[in-house]
Amino acid sequence: MSGCPSCGSADKHGSQGGPFSTGRDLVEFVFNAHDGTVRDKAIDGGGYETTCQGCNAPFTLTTFVGKCPQCGGVHAIAPVHRSAEHIQFAGEGVEF
Ligand SMILES: [Zn+2]
Repeated sequence: MSGCPSCGSADKHGSQGGPFSTGRDLVEFVFNAHDGTVRDKAIDGGGYETTCQGCNAPFTLTTFVGKCPQCGGVHAIAPVHRSAEHIQFAGEGVEF
């Protein structure tokens, strides 16, 4: 697996991170991917059921970058991944 998680191109990755980063690096990667056009895209199939990694509230991540409705914690998943276990959490108090 190489290149952009959305289109497969090897460039326009943004400055840091990649689809296999973890935590805040991954969130920043998805947030900045393709000049910010990826983060608001709806996830195929309606999103992923997950549990907030900050406050443990259950919620559905419906876009590649999304916030917990309880605490506002920012979560993201790279489009290359297809299951909720790959959702990464930016960290307590991190805002985008
Ligand atoms: Zn939360």
